[in-house]
Amino acid sequence: MTDLNGKTALVTGAAGGIGTAIVHRLQAQGVTVTGADQNDCTANHRITGDLMDAGFCDTLPLRAADLMGKLDIFVNNAGIITRGPITDATDDDFIRTMAINVEAPFRLCRAAIPIMADAGGGAIVNVASCWGVHPGPNHPLYVMSKAAVASLTQCLGMDHAHQMIRVNAVCPNEVDTAMLRSGFAARGFDPDSAIADLNASVPLGRIAAPEDIADIVVFLASDQARYLCGALIEANGGKPVK
Ligand code: NAD
Repeated sequence: MTDLNGKTALVTGAAGGIGTAIVHRLQAQGVTVTGADQNDCTANHRITGDLMDAGFCDTLPLRAADLMGKLDIFVNNAGIITRGPITDATDDDFIRTMAINVEAPFRLCRAAIPIMADAGGGAIVNVASCWGVHPGPNHPLYVMSKAAVASLTQCLGMDHAHQMIRVNAVCPNEVDTAMLRSGFAARGFDPDSAIADLNASVPLGRIAAPEDIADIVVFLASDQARYLCGALIEANGGKPVK
């Protein structure tokens, strides 16, 4: 058990693979969670909407705080992956990737920070990617968007520590979710056998389960991480990006 009992959290992408695990792990620590997603989720409170809608992002943290009475933790988890070299990328690919992966976190952090500051502090945890720190091949839009999230984390970690707001990020390598499996399916591979091959490429013997990442989010949100500000925690099972 951490010190999180009685705290409140807003989690975006709460219906997805990692988001669902984050919701459950936070709830197991006694946290009341508002989940935001375009799909329905299992959080205590649910707010449905599109993170491409600027007005939705600008108002979401206050709506969550109103529902729960306060906002102690904000987890910026929603994201999309856009695959392929830049020469295949359309204007719409660029606009969607930047809107969901970069503009939404910008708007959400900008709205959440004053709420947390007025309450004496809080914790923001961003879900970036190893690929945002060490670029991998043929995903330039995704990589640059996650590099922006990593950089935003480092900036906000410095800028808002004086308000007792800690901003940190987890940077996973491959995680077994729909995001990863859909890529294999789109390329005509059987996702189960492709993931078995990927497992063999990881020194720890397997790619991450969503719960492996959710446990790091819980740690970063908790007082156990009280001296971390702007940290990028790589979760890769010992496998470098290649
Ligand atoms: P996922 O596809 O299972 O979940 C993503 C969630 O975000 C979905 O529930 C989806 O509905 C929501 N979402 C997407 N666009 C939205 C929009 N416009 N409005 C509202 N909600 C929207 O993916 P996941 O693997 O759980 O990914 C979660 C985070 O982890 C993402 O930021 C992703 O980039 C990051 N990540 C994933 C991996 C991986 O291998 N799966 C690796 C590194 C980082």
